[in-house]
Amino acid sequence: MGKFNANIDAAIHSAMKLLIADADLTSRIALEAITRRWGYEPVVVEDGAAAWQVMREEEPPQLLLLDWTMPAPGGLVLCQKIRQQCQGKQPFIILLMARKESADIVSGLEAGANDHIVKPFEMAELQARLQVGRRTLDLQAQSNAAAQALIYQASHDDMTGLMNRRAVMDALERERADAQCESQVLCIGMCDIDHFKRINDGYGDLTGDAVLQGVARRIEGALRPYDHVGRYGGEAFLVVLNANELQAKVVFERICHAVASMPIVVRQTELNVTVSCGVSFFRPPQDDRESAELLVAADGALCEAKEGGRNRTIFRSTQKDVTHHE
Ligand code: GH3
Ligand code: MG
Repeated sequence: MGKFNANIDAAIHSAMKLLIADADLTSRIALEAITRRWGYEPVVVEDGAAAWQVMREEEPPQLLLLDWTMPAPGGLVLCQKIRQQCQGKQPFIILLMARKESADIVSGLEAGANDHIVKPFEMAELQARLQVGRRTLDLQAQSNAAAQALIYQASHDDMTGLMNRRAVMDALERERADAQCESQVLCIGMCDIDHFKRINDGYGDLTGDAVLQGVARRIEGALRPYDHVGRYGGEAFLVVLNANELQAKVVFERICHAVASMPIVVRQTELNVTVSCGVSFFRPPQDDRESAELLVAADGALCEAKEGGRNRTIFRSTQKDVTHHE
């Protein structure tokens, strides 16, 4: 949640960029000076083409003051274009109008403007309208951040910060489908902490939780940026790699080593922890197993790793291997 709140704070407390697009030089100079004094960061252009250029930049202004009568394209057309083509964050647009015809106001609003102001205007009125725009954008940013936080919460495990079971299963489904399309090998690994119950029984559940977090960090650190890992349940982690057997051997050696090589220290107590891993491979096009079957195969290999003495990885290389072991 912290990350999202920080984003909101940054958005609210930094000077807000304000695009001023106006053909009239005197008006541009006056608007730039006054809006800077009000705490905005004005970006000033003299025609629609330059304004459109600004809107295509990486972090475009979100508050826009567009002159209806400026050349190519005018405020109205530009407004439509922004609404149609700016994906994602929608800016707050105020049209600067020369006439107060009701029909013009209607077409401005229909083109996607949020508000309008008729020239000549009182600066106090412009300031108030800009403040409405700013408030609207702040509220929008807050509700977007809240929605993102909800999405994050729904897909991540609170304790370890890794993907939760559903999210990592989704990743497996996606990677399996891609591997099938491209006839690429996919590697599915189940990693389980050894004798974890002894840690809980000997040092308490809170220490057990801290060990879980430590192991999660170490597994994560042993992976490549494009690998997936999630908490499958309890003290088991599911790892999904785009890797052939040779590459997978390196990664799982790294995982076992990362966990076992140094004790995890919880409140001055050094705890020696190990993990066992069971790994299966999906090898299309001959292989047509579903994700659930690939998980069963990885789980079978994990049992074998436990029976074989723990702190090791067992690979089920082929589908035939699976049949052989079951
Ligand atoms: P093995 O080497 O065979 O995997 O033995 P193990 O002790 O790790 O496995 P077992 O299934 O006997 O015990 C796992 C324990 O993990 C039991 C459960 O209470 C504990 N556990 C599961 N989730 C959590 C958790 O979120 N926090 C803590 N502290 N313990 C948990
Ligand atoms: Mg265990």
